[in-house]
Amino acid sequence: MNIHEYQAKDLLRAEGVPIPAGDVATTPEQAEAIAQRLGGMVVVKAQVHAGGRGKAGGVKLAKTPAEARLLAAKILGMQIKGLTVHKVLVTAASDIASEAYVGIILDRATRKPVFMVSRAGGIDIEEVAATTPEKILKLPIDTRFGLQAYQANELGFFLFDDIKKVRAAAKIMTQLYAAFMRNGASLAEINPLVVTPAGDVVALDAKISIDDNELDRHPELEALRDETAEEPSEVEARNAHLTFIKLEGDVGCVVNGAGLAMATMDLVKYYGGEPANFLDIGGSSNPEKVVSALRIITEDPSVKAILFNIFGGITRTDDVANGIVTATKANPLRIPLVIRLTGTNEELAMKILHDNGFTASSDMDEAVKQAVALAHGGKAA
Ligand code: GDP
Ligand code: MN
Repeated sequence: MNIHEYQAKDLLRAEGVPIPAGDVATTPEQAEAIAQRLGGMVVVKAQVHAGGRGKAGGVKLAKTPAEARLLAAKILGMQIKGLTVHKVLVTAASDIASEAYVGIILDRATRKPVFMVSRAGGIDIEEVAATTPEKILKLPIDTRFGLQAYQANELGFFLFDDIKKVRAAAKIMTQLYAAFMRNGASLAEINPLVVTPAGDVVALDAKISIDDNELDRHPELEALRDETAEEPSEVEARNAHLTFIKLEGDVGCVVNGAGLAMATMDLVKYYGGEPANFLDIGGSSNPEKVVSALRIITEDPSVKAILFNIFGGITRTDDVANGIVTATKANPLRIPLVIRLTGTNEELAMKILHDNGFTASSDMDEAVKQAVALAHGGKAA
């Protein structure tokens, strides 16, 4: 789950990270009032779940509260990488002498949180990694011992020469690591970490992603979820208790079980297609879930064919068949549907489907081939 910059900054402030004061606004008037309260120069910043807001015109300096209002009016409603801005952060502006990058990601290869730091801050770290990887220090942390003082100093020395700044940075590393661990993050990033002309080290931007599997034990973090900032189909799926990830292809897949979902996506690709989504209706077979699944998939205009691939174990395939019949009666399909069912109550499921004018097979390869052909506008193979 992604959270906004202002929320990430609150989590970092709670650990003691130095961050300029600020508050969030949903109207230009609120932005003006916050700027008034802060006094001096402020920055008005679009709150969307995307990086590169600066380049997109979503981060602007204002000299007066009136200017903050005008800028907020411009930024609110703006589109950044396809996301609409509903909120702005108004924060006291800092003077910048230099910008560095500090981040922690959960690394699958080492199975550890890995610090990445660089003097080349402010810009896209992926670009730095691709063109000048020597400018990045990577340091995996053993979570049994946590970030040790000597490691925090090593990270600080990679960023700064002056011992006061090194110490300030080392302290921020410790605080960032604490925030990462406490909140079950998969990513925590400060970019830029700036040095002011006075020599202070402060965080001007923050990004934190929470591991979805941590949300059950962190209800206070679940409360930070902003559904208006998320992919609408993913919000709908989550509320229907479906596991759903939107992808770029055109074969809509409805599958039970994550393993079968992966196998189905592999097979779609093997036969030359591209899955439009990952959708797992789960082990139970509530026909309601099938109805929700079909609705979510058919709302996506890029889906050209739908593939049901159900292996009935605990799932009863007749329940799935009934779900398909109910859903398509309420909302007749405008795109082809290919059904593969096998397992528990398969004969009953086939009968239900045939009685309602559907065809279905129990062969996974055949069904996938057919769905890919139909998505490409061709006849069934
Ligand atoms: P991003 O583009 O989405 O990563 O948004 P950032 O918050 O990182 O802002 C982008 C850039 O705006 C930063 O790298 C800074 O150069 C600049 N910026 C942000 N806050 C301030 C500030 O308080 N003062 C000044 N002078 N520039 C700022
Ligand atoms: Mn940034």
